[in-house]
Amino acid sequence: MTSIKEALEQIGELPTHMWIAGQKVSIGSRQTIECRDPGSGQLLSTLPAGSKDDVAHAVSVAKAALKGPWADLLPKERGRLLWKAGEALHAQAAQYALVETLDSGKPLQDAKVSVQRAADYFMYYAGMVDKLEGTSVPLGPNKVAYTEKVPVGVTGHIVPWNVPLSMVTRGIAPALACGNTAVVKPAEDTPLAAVMLIELLEEVGVPVGVVNVVTGFGSEAGQALAEHPDVRHITFTGSVATGKKIMHAAADHLASVTLELGGKSPHLILGDADLDRATPDILAAVYKNAGQICSSGTRLIVEKAIHNELVDRLAEKSEAMQIGHGLSNPDMGPLISNRQLQTVVGFADRAKGRGIDFACGGNPARVASNQGGYYFEPTVANNIDPDDELAQKEVFGPVLSVIPVASVDEAIEVANNTDYGLAAGIHTKDITAAMRFAKSVEAGQVYINGYHSSGDTVPFGGFRDSGIGREKGLAGLDAYSETRAVTITL
Ligand code: NAD
Repeated sequence: MTSIKEALEQIGELPTHMWIAGQKVSIGSRQTIECRDPGSGQLLSTLPAGSKDDVAHAVSVAKAALKGPWADLLPKERGRLLWKAGEALHAQAAQYALVETLDSGKPLQDAKVSVQRAADYFMYYAGMVDKLEGTSVPLGPNKVAYTEKVPVGVTGHIVPWNVPLSMVTRGIAPALACGNTAVVKPAEDTPLAAVMLIELLEEVGVPVGVVNVVTGFGSEAGQALAEHPDVRHITFTGSVATGKKIMHAAADHLASVTLELGGKSPHLILGDADLDRATPDILAAVYKNAGQICSSGTRLIVEKAIHNELVDRLAEKSEAMQIGHGLSNPDMGPLISNRQLQTVVGFADRAKGRGIDFACGGNPARVASNQGGYYFEPTVANNIDPDDELAQKEVFGPVLSVIPVASVDEAIEVANNTDYGLAAGIHTKDITAAMRFAKSVEAGQVYINGYHSSGDTVPFGGFRDSGIGREKGLAGLDAYSETRAVTITL
């Protein structure tokens, strides 16, 4: 395993600044945020906690940049810049992956995949820049009407800590493709790669001021960004409670929002499922990123005929999982912070108090080589009532809630029995049952016989409390253009 010291040496200098108008903005007299390695608790870097004034400065710079050389680029030139950004990020993927592992705790192999995905967003949207076409509308012989797409203006991007870099690029790549400028507020726990990325964008030729990053706390820098009247669209991923605050703030100046919020996604395993295929898929769906993915398959809804056998298999595999520091490429890394660990412990302890049966796990995990890290055991909570807290609330940790059901109809009813509607999966050989499920489940994405199998070009977003709008794919462009309709009378 690469040690933390070796990883830090390979990375070189970690950011200790924000990035506004092509300048490093250092701590000065500001408050600070501490960036820690979740695997060991070690302090990695201290950065400025950006203020309301810093946000106002970044927004004014981004507003001015809308009229500068950025606006004069031909679409194909803008596309080329995005492509170059993707290439540069791919070329530096190993270094960025080390940063993502140290900053967010994820296993190095997963960090590499998410950095590559971050780079791919630039390349995917690079190809769209010169294809943002309008339409013409027939109005008879004496009129001509057409529409064109124009940028919405300054876009704000408020980003969570679970997949830090690719959450930034899946927002700013389509925003830039459509000709907008951006101010990014990364999560206070994981700001490092975002700051590095903005420097990289300017190195490949994105004009100064087009993208700026203000590090800091959500309650100050995030709130100020959402409230700023010159921010015309806000893209946010995170908790439902914060999403509501952002939507309220945006309403005051009628900015549009894309909200990608939480989930309690159902994963149905019907009696005819191929359990050899389903078992690893169920485990990956819930334990990937230590369960800190909004679309994790956290409610396992199982037909009774296979319930006991499947739970035995899941418990055995869960107990065999290797937990450790992300740099050692374990099966599962730590949670993001002690705060998140305590949240997960709280869910487990309350469940124990209600007499819930854990087929495995349920406790913080000890990792002898990294005792300061925030680890929790892979956990299977069995025989959960569909209305129990563990079936209704987002734990955001490696906890699977197993709900036995008697029929496909009951499974579908249980699947829809939460406030969320983000993702849903099913394993079955019965195509009719799978399609019935796909058509009746209230979820933004449905996975049949392969959870999380859609990649980065398929639209992603939620129904109900899981959010508003779509990111990724062509639908991910919709939020970033206004339509101007021009009618000419001949
Ligand atoms: P959060 O929603 O509070 O934070 C996400 C981002 O929003 C961060 O950048 C944060 O600084 C910012 N923010 C916080 N308050 C803000 C405000 N008032 N105005 C503007 N921006 C603000 O998430 P959290 O507190 O870090 O985590 C809490 C829970 O949120 C987790 O347990 C999990 O359930 C959920 N979560 C979901 C996702 C997801 O991918 N959907 C990601 C992270 C967290």
